[in-house]
Amino acid sequence: MKRSEEMTFWERIYLPEILRGLAITNYHFVRNLFLHTAHLFGFKKDVNATATTQYPEERKHYPDTFRGSHRLTLREDSSVRCTACFLCATACPAQCIYIEAGEAPDPHIEKFPVRYEIDTLRCIYCGLCVEACPCDAIRMDTYVHPRIWGFDRLDFVETKEQLMHRSRVLAEKGRDGNMDEMLAWYKEQDAAVYDRTPHKHYAEPPKKIDELPAIDRHQVRSGK
Ligand code: SF4
Ligand code: SF4
Repeated sequence: MKRSEEMTFWERIYLPEILRGLAITNYHFVRNLFLHTAHLFGFKKDVNATATTQYPEERKHYPDTFRGSHRLTLREDSSVRCTACFLCATACPAQCIYIEAGEAPDPHIEKFPVRYEIDTLRCIYCGLCVEACPCDAIRMDTYVHPRIWGFDRLDFVETKEQLMHRSRVLAEKGRDGNMDEMLAWYKEQDAAVYDRTPHKHYAEPPKKIDELPAIDRHQVRSGK
């Protein structure tokens, strides 16, 4: 940003920029008004009237470099690749990774995560966990953004099963698979939870995303 003494006279009075902003706003207003009216009469149907993406009915396709939700990668036998070394949890600046290590059934592997959870409300999606992992066991190349809808803090705690499931979906359905699943879940919740009659919402108790055992839920809440 320029300091005030570096600004020109016209920049200091802001007027040209205000007028430019008003011109852009008015251009979109008139354009959308024209297109919506044309759509009403069956014209210009192929031209979108607004620049807003009507999420979740429409969505942007994220670029290859998009750093999205996490996944735990799998071995060829579909077991989790993670060896519960805790390096990701140690590197995590938000301290939102919870790992519980257990003895691996494979004698060639020392440990595996009995539990691996990420609290996505605390996660800042920095990618340091991915950088820290020596086994390529955690990635963020799922092309799906974090879940934005839930009714309880625990709805946003992603479990090992969820994180492994994303790897399976990615392998089977490609880069749109995980987003398709999340949007399908949104629609299912929308249909189940909201009663469309006036002045009446939350007709049924919200369905949980995951059914964690009671003891796990207590531990996550208390941060143990
Ligand atoms: S992306 Fe960053 S904040 Fe999120 S779990 Fe990984 S290291 Fe922690
Ligand atoms: S994801 Fe990687 S860094 Fe984290 S515990 Fe597993 S093996 Fe270690």
